[in-house]
Amino acid sequence: MRVVVLGAGISGLSTATLLRQRGDDVVLVSAHATEATTSHLAAAVWFPTSAGPADKVASWGSTTYDVLAAEAERGVPGVVMRESLVVYREEPPPQPWAAAVGDIRPAKADELPAGYSHGLRFAVPLVEMPTYLPWLYRQYVDGGGHQVVRRIDALHDLLDLAPDVIVNCGGLAAGKLVGDTSTYPIRGQIVRVVNPGLSMSMRDETHPAGRAYVHPRTNDCILGGTLDAGVWDTTVDDETTLSIISRCSDLVPALAGTAVIEALVGLRPGRPEVRLERDDELLPGVPVVHNYGHGGSGITLGWGCAADAVRACG
Ligand SMILES: Cc1cc2nc3c(=O)[nH]c(=O)nc-3n(C[C@H](O)[C@H](O)[C@H](O)COP(=O)(O)OP(=O)(O)OC[C@H]3O[C@@H](n4cnc5c(N)ncnc54)[C@H](O)[C@@H]3O)c2cc1C
Repeated sequence: MRVVVLGAGISGLSTATLLRQRGDDVVLVSAHATEATTSHLAAAVWFPTSAGPADKVASWGSTTYDVLAAEAERGVPGVVMRESLVVYREEPPPQPWAAAVGDIRPAKADELPAGYSHGLRFAVPLVEMPTYLPWLYRQYVDGGGHQVVRRIDALHDLLDLAPDVIVNCGGLAAGKLVGDTSTYPIRGQIVRVVNPGLSMSMRDETHPAGRAYVHPRTNDCILGGTLDAGVWDTTVDDETTLSIISRCSDLVPALAGTAVIEALVGLRPGRPEVRLERDDELLPGVPVVHNYGHGGSGITLGWGCAADAVRACG
């Protein structure tokens, strides 16, 4: 089967890779190189955020957790298992994501930063996207996949590539390309700082000043972050940068004086629910499989969604 996949972020690349692995003739079409996608910028830690529906997110997230954990185990570039601590000011309800992470335990009192009464300890995959995405792209190309750099105005424009099926992994732009008005941006600002020697991820999802997360990577540390639904502005806001550093310092005081490398803004592909379905009506004679609208969870759900998208191709 000849499959044209739109999008070279995590959704498009993972779907194209699985299609290629099962022997399809695959053409990946993208307006941007992988390093200019939202996926490249992501903090890219496994943790379901701003995505639905809940039952599917649990299942896609669980599949993706297992794939990334196996990749970490076999030393795939950019993928590591990261010890993690989520902290709370009061006893948390059961967490819907906990089943996927396997071993999880309450944090001990001496593991908690000042001001927090509860915490959960577990390990999740952390993906350094500037390393992983180029590696994934290379796997795809070395496996016989093709790529075309091209901007399209509508999905219809892909018909000249003679596809048997089209897979729509266009991220935030995907909805506009097919007349789906339920998509929206979820602006995210993060700060890249020098890692002051940390090896554990930490997060406080309910910090009074906004979400706070700290993700140490090989050569830096990502501090976050904001989730501004409906905001298209990609300009870095300096006050937000200071607020992110301040609230992350509540989790890890050593971050208060660490050097800032840069602040970054990206637009997550928001949608009330991930759209993963086959659409036989949109284009004449060519089915479309939609795989977009992953919100703040594109890396968390990527391999699970890709597997379902491949099945939907037939
Ligand atoms: C600050 C920030 C932090 C994040 N942290 C995490 C995290 O920790 N964990 C997590 O799971 N997720 C995280 N995310 C969310 C994650 O980045 C997204 O869900 C994910 O990148 C979406 O991937 P995608 O492949 O669907 O879209 P994208 O990466 O946006 O790729 C879209 C592709 O479609 C192509 N395209 C679009 N329009 C056209 C067109 N007209 N013609 C041709 N090509 C087109 C683009 O060129 C691109 O190749 C974060 C996002 C941000 C902004």
